[in-house]
Amino acid sequence: MILDISNLHVNVEDQPILKGVNLKINAGEIHAIMGRNGSGKSTLSKVIAGHPAYLVTSGSIKFNNQDLLSIEPEQRARSGVFLGFQYPIEIPGVSNLEFLRVATNSRRQERGEEELDTFEFEDLVNERLKIVQMNPTFLERSVNEGFSGGEKKRNEILQMALLEPTLAILDETDSGLDIDALRIVASGVKKLAKPNTATLLITHYQRLLNEITPDFVHVMSGGRILRTGGGELATKLEESGYDWLDNEQNIKEEEN
Ligand code: ADP
Ligand code: MG
Repeated sequence: MILDISNLHVNVEDQPILKGVNLKINAGEIHAIMGRNGSGKSTLSKVIAGHPAYLVTSGSIKFNNQDLLSIEPEQRARSGVFLGFQYPIEIPGVSNLEFLRVATNSRRQERGEEELDTFEFEDLVNERLKIVQMNPTFLERSVNEGFSGGEKKRNEILQMALLEPTLAILDETDSGLDIDALRIVASGVKKLAKPNTATLLITHYQRLLNEITPDFVHVMSGGRILRTGGGELATKLEESGYDWLDNEQNIKEEEN
């Protein structure tokens, strides 16, 4: 099992946001988490990546059987946890090429592989650019600076293609993409999903899931996973929205 989250409770600024999340992802699986805005999806992804503003008050996260919460965020990334951000940050003054090279080398070092020099890295990055059909001129610019929403998301997938993460979490990677960019991003994600990796797609639309069929779909609401199903659950949400789930939940709570 690559990811094993058990009874996870998380506070942000003393407010409980996650209230007992359970989630297991095996190697080779693609999972999707759907849910309304504010349900806690991004919070979950940030906790896994190790964002300091999010305080775990109880529960555990295991990554490859290790206690992930005791590992520093930088080390999590080196060990193969990748988070594609909902809102990728711009880093003015830092060349995208150099940024990607440093990140790639630190991951390679962790895996006992040789670091790549500038020339070797250019070969690798040019090959990986094809996965996201990105123009090489984006390498010469500062990280994400002035990139459109879609270009930032492609740059995230390029980073993923270079880092080859064991666990890839993509938070609303589909938002702000036109249909062509969505297809490119989706095909990139599919290519990068391997029998020994785990993928977690976070989205509140079904359209990404038309391109990538997840093995499991989870619906989050109020900081909990309310329901888990297969791809058909995403279709049902697309057709009926989230209200029917709330109604079911209310009936359950009344019964208890
Ligand atoms: P989602 O990604 O599902 O839209 P989020 O995880 O971003 O939901 O947010 C869940 C809840 O936590 C929201 O009510 C949001 O306002 C709150 N929240 C998340 N991050 C912070 C933060 N840094 N400070 C204060 N509140 C936050
Ligand atoms: Mg979010």
